[in-house]
Amino acid sequence: MTGNNQSTYLDFNAGAPLLPQVRSLMAEALTETGNASSVHGFGRAARHRVETARVQLAALVGASPSRVVFTSGGTEANNQALHCMSRDHDATILVSAVEHDSVIAAAPDAQQIPVGRDGIIDLENLRQRLTRLREDSTAPILVSVMLANNETGVISPLREVAELAHAFGALVHCDAVQAAGKIPVDMDALGIDLLTLSSHKLGGPQGAGALILSKTPALRASPLIHGGGQERGLRAGTENVAAIAGFGLAAELAREGLAGAGRLASLRDGLESGIRELAPEVEIFGSAVPRLLNTSCFTMPGVLAETQVMALDLEGVAVSAGAACSSGKVAPSRVLHAMGVDQDRAACAIRVSLGWSSEKAHIDHFLQAWGALYSRKGGQAAKPTDSTEPARSTKAA
Ligand code: PLP
Repeated sequence: MTGNNQSTYLDFNAGAPLLPQVRSLMAEALTETGNASSVHGFGRAARHRVETARVQLAALVGASPSRVVFTSGGTEANNQALHCMSRDHDATILVSAVEHDSVIAAAPDAQQIPVGRDGIIDLENLRQRLTRLREDSTAPILVSVMLANNETGVISPLREVAELAHAFGALVHCDAVQAAGKIPVDMDALGIDLLTLSSHKLGGPQGAGALILSKTPALRASPLIHGGGQERGLRAGTENVAAIAGFGLAAELAREGLAGAGRLASLRDGLESGIRELAPEVEIFGSAVPRLLNTSCFTMPGVLAETQVMALDLEGVAVSAGAACSSGKVAPSRVLHAMGVDQDRAACAIRVSLGWSSEKAHIDHFLQAWGALYSRKGGQAAKPTDSTEPARSTKAA
């Protein structure tokens, strides 16, 4: 992956490169004229692209196409999901402490459910909160828990969360932006009432996303954006046909590609074996629990994440410090803080995330650049070995 002087792109959780098949489809769609709401032939052709994408999206998460609402991205879909509840002044929203900013900021009054040191939500705490809320009232409750964390890749026990929430009559929203396309997601089997997806994490274009609703009768969805009656009145605005078509194809390709996910697991395990060999004191967050197999979040002790990211960038390797989606700023990681990681260690954590175009040469490039920085900073780096050597960790989910 080349561009902007970069030769190794290992930041897929921030945004995956556009898949070539998606680029071709979008280029074709962009040459076409027509508003998907128009009744003439041009409009019907645009509508056909949107509806094809709806079917592709629904298939990725085992939902019915009629429940898919297209949005401008994961952020809007998360805001829309929480908006369904926050309109009701009696309602309570519970969110896990490691949710993405687009959940935390959209529900500033929400109660936060803590996570353990491994990043897994504290189910007992959730049970106690739900019990207390139900002792006091029968008002609506929404529990919002992400399926996989963007920084650590830690996978939440969503089925248990949903069983617990439903036992107390609460609805469940799940931000599956990072999980979709990396692990199988079945909304019904997991018991999810509202689910968020984002196109650019799947190799689709930026600026497209979806909120998928279950058939739950208690769900009273109301629009966040008002105007024309697009998306069955749930999201006004002329559809971005080319982006939606690209999103749909990316979802279909992701679904087909799930079977080949073992390739990423072996690359990621090779990466982690390599860094452990270079720096035995390295700490890999969430490595003892189910994790996305493309994500690794770890420290170079004593070297700030900003320093690592900049030094690696100079060597042509792109990774992130903490959550990268926040306008390029490197802020202390709220996720690691919630996991009880002290500030000094959290400040030295970087995230490496892999995807469809990742190759062994990229891992080797990373290890060579990271190992060189580690030795310069006073670590006792050994020479990096071949990243295909047997991996020590196969914990990925
Ligand atoms: N949720 C998670 C877990 C994310 O990682 C991100 C982006 O990084 C979002 C939501 C926001 O998605 P979008 O960039 O499509 O607005």
